[in-house]
Amino acid sequence: MAIRQIREEGDEILKKKSKDVEVIDEKIKELIQDMLETMHKYNGIGLAAVQVGILKKVIVIDLYEEGKPPFILVNPCILKQEGEQTVEEGCLSFPNKFAKIVRPERVTVKYLDENGKEVTLEGKDLLAQAVAHEVDHLNGITFVEKMIPGTLEIVTEEDKKKEKI
Ligand SMILES: [Zn+2]
Repeated sequence: MAIRQIREEGDEILKKKSKDVEVIDEKIKELIQDMLETMHKYNGIGLAAVQVGILKKVIVIDLYEEGKPPFILVNPCILKQEGEQTVEEGCLSFPNKFAKIVRPERVTVKYLDENGKEVTLEGKDLLAQAVAHEVDHLNGITFVEKMIPGTLEIVTEEDKKKEKI
């Protein structure tokens, strides 16, 4: 396992679309482990493969809830989204920016787990926000493109520890 370098604002790869994973082979499994390690090192609650420079549809999410393992989503597809929540959001690829954004309150997402098993997950609140944020990354969209105008905040070193996805 290894910590991978996080691609940051200005890196053109963040605007590119990721491709489906065809086979969950050893290389993809290693990528997943590295993504988990990288997300945890930077206290992120989510990370998409494109953020470590790999254009594959792989997402990891960890809400740090007691006894719950991280979510690993391969080839995620949002089937349904309902409601709205206005939330403050940050991103590991924009280390000192936060902004308010409207996200769905609930999402239903279908994906493969790390063993290739098909899973349908219903998430609400923070989980719905994280899924929507990460699926946007797979489509080459970052949160600053969707933020509510005028809500962008540049934060200090101290506030950098706030949760990012
Ligand atoms: Zn992000």
